[in-house]
Amino acid sequence: MLSRTSTAASHSLIVASSTNASKSFSNLNRNIPRFLGFNHFSPNLPDCSCSGYVSFGWNTSSNRKFNRSRMEGFAVRASAQPLQNADELIDSVETFIFDCDGVIWKGDKLIDGVPETLDMLRSKGKRLVFVTNNSTKSRKQYGKKFETLGLNVTEEEIFASSFAAAAYLKSIDFPKEKKIYVIGEEGILKELELAGYQYLGGPEDGGKKIELKPGFLMEHDEDVGAVVVGFDRYFNYYKVQYGTLCIRENPGCLFIATNRDAVTHLTDAQEWAGGGSMVGALCGSTQREPLVVGKPSTFMMDYLANKFGIQKSQICMVGDRLDTDILFGQNGGCKTLLVLSGVTSLSTLQSPNNSIQPDFYTNKISDFLSLKAATV
Ligand SMILES: [Mg+2]
Repeated sequence: MLSRTSTAASHSLIVASSTNASKSFSNLNRNIPRFLGFNHFSPNLPDCSCSGYVSFGWNTSSNRKFNRSRMEGFAVRASAQPLQNADELIDSVETFIFDCDGVIWKGDKLIDGVPETLDMLRSKGKRLVFVTNNSTKSRKQYGKKFETLGLNVTEEEIFASSFAAAAYLKSIDFPKEKKIYVIGEEGILKELELAGYQYLGGPEDGGKKIELKPGFLMEHDEDVGAVVVGFDRYFNYYKVQYGTLCIRENPGCLFIATNRDAVTHLTDAQEWAGGGSMVGALCGSTQREPLVVGKPSTFMMDYLANKFGIQKSQICMVGDRLDTDILFGQNGGCKTLLVLSGVTSLSTLQSPNNSIQPDFYTNKISDFLSLKAATV
């Protein structure tokens, strides 16, 4: 009942073990192929949006071969089944990874039955992890949000893409003497600071304007070794040009995206342009593809599997989005459960145009409480 029609190959995070601070920055690019484990071919990517698709700016021959072999190994996935026996799913895994918006809360409102459901899972000894692509807050700030909503969640259980950007840089021994240019909000800055990195940009550059005069040239810091791009409500041309100069002109400069989400839900009235729009601008100007650390790239999955020593087959990813959450779980080789309490409707899931099929779907996570009687 709980078996999947195809199992994504298991990939493990290769965390750079060397902490030798003297490692030269030029070694970084040579280190990159070690992270092919999360540069996955995604067989179920929606046709053109490539939302969240992780890829490298440098497409090595081993990378191409890797992708081809994954493609050949995939079988067609069967249609998602309504969750009928929650007990069986709960008993089959040791960890639940929850997306937040649309699963735990909607905007600032807790979804019905969430506290009781999380309590029940904890009482059964399940490890709970919360993963979000939203990079505007740090783990600490998310911790406060959970607290405000009356949920008992520790910072260690929260993995936001802002944290993932800093964790990624740490994992490759990004030199502390180099700087990071940030296009994004407070969350990224706070996580970089906690990780001990020097940064510039962020909200501070939100009000900067370019005044074009004959011969005008924008200076940029040649010590910038990475540009991190996340969702940014104060995105402007200054930031695009600054980030572009760093990526194009600083040798070995990394281009890192927290996510490539096409849309986000700033208000409940409509969908708003997401982090993918900021990343896309830099792709256009640099002709480079970013390294994505948020969903559906498996960096965070690899990171937490490594951190907690979890087998990915013992994880169930629970989310409300097909092209990020469910793909994230599938790319990581986990079981997947789609909840219909967020952005995906049953008709979208069952549309012939949708090729991303979770293992199961249900209305909301509190259906776990009705155990054998979950109805959709
Ligand atoms: Mg969501």
